[in-house]
Amino acid sequence: MRIDKYLAHCGYGSRTEVKKIIKNKLVFCNEILVTKDDLKINPELDEIIVEGERSSYQQYVYIMLNKPAGYISSNYDPIHKVTKELIKEFDHFQTFPVGRLDLDTEGLLLLSNDGKLAHDLLSPRKHVDKMYYVEFSGTYREIYTSLFESGITLEDGYLTMPAKIELLADNKANLTIQEGKYHQVKRMFEALDMKVTYLKRMTFGPLHLDPNLKKGSYRLLSDDEVLLLK
Ligand code: URA
Repeated sequence: MRIDKYLAHCGYGSRTEVKKIIKNKLVFCNEILVTKDDLKINPELDEIIVEGERSSYQQYVYIMLNKPAGYISSNYDPIHKVTKELIKEFDHFQTFPVGRLDLDTEGLLLLSNDGKLAHDLLSPRKHVDKMYYVEFSGTYREIYTSLFESGITLEDGYLTMPAKIELLADNKANLTIQEGKYHQVKRMFEALDMKVTYLKRMTFGPLHLDPNLKKGSYRLLSDDEVLLLK
């Protein structure tokens, strides 16, 4: 791996910033001054000292974002703002959103560069619970609770897996689903003649949206939270 990429992954700044650190003669590899930013190093074997301190390499990053409405959970979009713009500090980690939230959906979005973890979490076979806080218009009938529990047939004929709904008020509920079909929550409500007017993801597997995260802000997962995901 190139030393500039390695240093960026250790958290010393963007590729441009770490090039400056190298230029300022602050980086040593196995006690030899590093003068080239394309020097190839082995993160497992080489001892890299930066400003007198031993560096430690971080390959993967796991970020909990409180997604605001108005952002697409993608790394590129020709029209809309994308969630990647909210975590600029982690650009060099090449993260991607683990699962999708609609443009107008808020709440817990996990971003990571750990492809295996993402694949496992999104696999339908894994049955990862996701709880959404839903506000809706239309009339909620008592019978709907058991309909959600037995699965709802969407407009295209697809029968969803069983879901759990907890009615909080006439037009507010928490809905827990295990799948992630396109617009799934909205379509489940639509199939019962109700319309989702506000949607926020509160949990993703074992993760709960951190109440201290304001809309648009994020934090790294703790080591314990990462372990729970695996
Ligand atoms: N279901 C939806 O309809 N939208 C989302 O963003 C997530 C789940």
